[in-house]
Amino acid sequence: MKQERSLEIFEASKKIIPGGVNSPARAFSSVNMTPPVIKRGKGAYLYDEDGNTYIDYVGSWGPLILGHCHPEVVENLEGVLQTGTSFGAPTEIELKMAQLITEGMPSIEMIRMVNSGTEATMTALRLARGYTKRNKIIKFNGNYHGHSDSLLIKAGSGALTHGVPNSPGVTPEVAKDTITATYNDIDDIKNIFNQYSEEIAAVIVEPIAGNMGVIPMTQAFAQTLRDLTEKYGALLIFDEVMTGFRVAFGGAQSLYGIKPDLTCFGKIIGGGLPVGAFGGKKEIMEHLSPTGPVYQAGTLSGNPLAMTAGYTTLKILKENPQIYEKIESHAAALESGFKSIVKDLEVSASFNRVGSMLCMFFTDETVIDFDTANTSNTNQFTFYFKEMLSRGIYIAPSQFEAMFISNAHGKEEINKTIEAAYESLKSLKESL
Ligand SMILES: *Cc1c(COP(=O)(O)O)cnc(C)c1O
Repeated sequence: MKQERSLEIFEASKKIIPGGVNSPARAFSSVNMTPPVIKRGKGAYLYDEDGNTYIDYVGSWGPLILGHCHPEVVENLEGVLQTGTSFGAPTEIELKMAQLITEGMPSIEMIRMVNSGTEATMTALRLARGYTKRNKIIKFNGNYHGHSDSLLIKAGSGALTHGVPNSPGVTPEVAKDTITATYNDIDDIKNIFNQYSEEIAAVIVEPIAGNMGVIPMTQAFAQTLRDLTEKYGALLIFDEVMTGFRVAFGGAQSLYGIKPDLTCFGKIIGGGLPVGAFGGKKEIMEHLSPTGPVYQAGTLSGNPLAMTAGYTTLKILKENPQIYEKIESHAAALESGFKSIVKDLEVSASFNRVGSMLCMFFTDETVIDFDTANTSNTNQFTFYFKEMLSRGIYIAPSQFEAMFISNAHGKEEINKTIEAAYESLKSLKESL
């Protein structure tokens, strides 16, 4: 694998951009290597500065469910470039976007657009606190909700692989209002509600965790969260930044049949442009300014470029529900291919998959929460990761991330990936 140009660019970047990156996981430090510098993407493929080609299972960390440069998305964006990219004034595309999302998810009566998933969760919490007039929030160990202060506590993937579960700069005063609980542990959450009862403003949860590998909630746990929040008058916030329009058009909430009070979005709803959103019950959402007292604003929120990329993506998904069947069947084929390889080669691995989100953990244990995810052998993951990359398969550089299958992945890509996994795991086995 040639790396000259990538190395040159990355070394120069490191001198003027911390770590050479604008988001830490991209630095590949958890796998001790220098990342390829990407030049372009098309469909299921990435091309780097040295001319290497990769089958992409990162998809910009989730958004690109239609693959890179989907022709319709590109065409509509080109139209926007001719008519203005930002006005800071109401536009019709914002209405159309809001209609499409609220029609797709019955729990969402009103929605507001922001610029990232971080902004969405941060504001949803402020709104929950303002609405309930309570301070404490509960989050789950290993769930990631972006990097706002009160959520940067026991926060999965980036924070996890970098070994900084709590970041310096988050004050103890802020941290004390965030209570952390164990994912999928019904007794734990019951005890916390018993103890703090009417102090709790909200529970925020990744309904299908995607930032400590892939770990779905059990149905019983999901129901417990809904019941307890109702009983104690706290809000239930689903962070569907990753799962929204990914696991189903109706998100994880449609799979569980549970209506959260608020839902956060990002990733797919931006179609590859910077977007976030949060929405839910009208009564709660009307507490936002200008109709209510809870403040939130954004110069570029709802800007025409992001709205157009997102709207086009969601519309294609809505009009072509078979896309979900296709990406799920490809993910299932990958999973079963991997499973038979690890069985043949006697590699310890366990799998979690929901729709087109897949994770292979290097452990014998069934992974249901942060602790079981952490039984994974990350050295083995690192070895496997490098072997896959050298064979042109681009997966996230961390054990604690999902593999995303897009609509641009076909049988050919899936088969090539399974072949590469066989060779990669075989050399892992030989190295042990
Ligand atoms: C990616 C992610 C976020 C943060 O979104 P950004 O756009 O990166 O700020 C929040 N929650 C979940 C579940 C995510 O996967």
